[in-house]
Amino acid sequence: MKKYVIALDQGTTSSRAMLVDVKGQVVGVVQRPFPQIYPHPGWVEHDPKDILSSQLGALTELLVAHQVTPEQIDSIGITNQRETTIIWDRKTGEPIANAIVWQCRRTASIVEEITADPLVSQRITAKTGLIPDAYFSASKIKWLLDNVEGARVRAEAGELAFGTIDCWLLWALTNGEVHATDTTNASRTMLYNIREGCWDTELLELFNIPESLLPEVKPSASFFGKTSNPQLMQGIPICGIAGDQQAALFGQCCFKPGQAKNTYGTGCFLLMNTGADACVSKNGLVTTIAASAPGVDHTEYALEGSVFMAGALIQWLRDEVGLIQTAEETCDLARSVESTGGVYIVPAFTGMGAPYWDAEARGAIYGLTRGTQKAHIVRAALEALAYQVFDLVRAMEADAGMPLSVLNIDGGASANDFLMQFQSDVLKTPLCRPQNRETTALGAAYLAGLTTGFWKSTEDLLALRSGDSRYNPNMEDARHMELIAGWHEAVARTVYKPKH
Ligand code: ADP
Repeated sequence: MKKYVIALDQGTTSSRAMLVDVKGQVVGVVQRPFPQIYPHPGWVEHDPKDILSSQLGALTELLVAHQVTPEQIDSIGITNQRETTIIWDRKTGEPIANAIVWQCRRTASIVEEITADPLVSQRITAKTGLIPDAYFSASKIKWLLDNVEGARVRAEAGELAFGTIDCWLLWALTNGEVHATDTTNASRTMLYNIREGCWDTELLELFNIPESLLPEVKPSASFFGKTSNPQLMQGIPICGIAGDQQAALFGQCCFKPGQAKNTYGTGCFLLMNTGADACVSKNGLVTTIAASAPGVDHTEYALEGSVFMAGALIQWLRDEVGLIQTAEETCDLARSVESTGGVYIVPAFTGMGAPYWDAEARGAIYGLTRGTQKAHIVRAALEALAYQVFDLVRAMEADAGMPLSVLNIDGGASANDFLMQFQSDVLKTPLCRPQNRETTALGAAYLAGLTTGFWKSTEDLLALRSGDSRYNPNMEDARHMELIAGWHEAVARTVYKPKH
């Protein structure tokens, strides 16, 4: 009888369910999109029931399509969009309002007010590893308690529960029996002390959040509960939970300090495992908790940085400028010219992130001449992705005090061979792209399967990796220096105070 681990991958725009076999192959996927709700400019919500019905619907359809019997399921692992905040009634399971999505900016002024004193901001960073922002759950919880009628009174009476999406799904899967989350998700709430490993009383007071709202926090590879939702097969153990980026780091088998992954999607997410060391960044990166294999007796951490405009720059060329029809054609177009002919794009559409941090900066294209062709601009766009990742990697290496030996890559744009070769060239580091690019879901499956013994060890997981594509650096030093100098000059013209 063939056995599987199920990965539930609850993302920002869709919910997916996957069957993963013992060889680490994804043998079935069902994906269900759900509505995005934009009640006001800058606000983003999800209906928690849409999240649930799309996720349970995807799971049910997957099991029916593959005729999977309960005996064939080893366990469930969950990975999820992080920071998105739900509060519900403990008795009825009814959400008190829509989920406030990580992208939602409605609480920016709350964070500004609370962190007006730089010492407060520093204390938050020291405890949580995060740079205070509306992105994280704390101010979203406060907003719900302050703005939904009766919510604060009910919360103080212990009637309500808060959860990130993993916690909401776990609650529903266990029919309201378990209110728990994992350390990776807790570390994105801005209420969890990542050094002491507990909800932080001082931060709860700062955001005026009653502790009774909060879930129990467990390691990512733990037994969380068993399914007992009447819509589902009963008794399946849920044994792995991690936020999407930490799940991808685990799914990329970055089990040791110094190992890193970068996801090239709409934006880029770079995470480096820093082991037991909760590195403090001097370059505006955040420190977060990494998912660990069962049996690891200490908290493991990661440094995290992101690029705002990555695949989004390619989308912009396609949808707004109309320079290309598909993202895929950029690879051949870029290769059709020998260089960008001196063109650089600085994609500061929404400001520049780490390591520059200039929110006011705006995008620019430099070096246009009468000889500039479409292909030069397209190539400059792809190169801009790679340069942004280059800056982030160098900042991360400096913060972690260790060089990157290999960069593991995934995400939609990692399919672009030109981009990946150029990335390897500018980083002077090999890149490794696994055959199976579903690293986020794999991470959740691995955590669950290691907990139950479906896989015996992380070595077993490493042995499953085969058929990786590798890119090795192959650029002369003189050209490398010239290109990087050109990029930094373009950045210097764009941001107020470049740091390099
Ligand atoms: P997300 O999960 O953020 O939606 P994906 O990982 O699905 O993103 O990747 C989609 C993004 O990658 C899009 O922004 C698209 O423009 C970009 N992309 C996809 N394929 C390519 C390609 N071959 N070359 C360059 N960019 C690509």
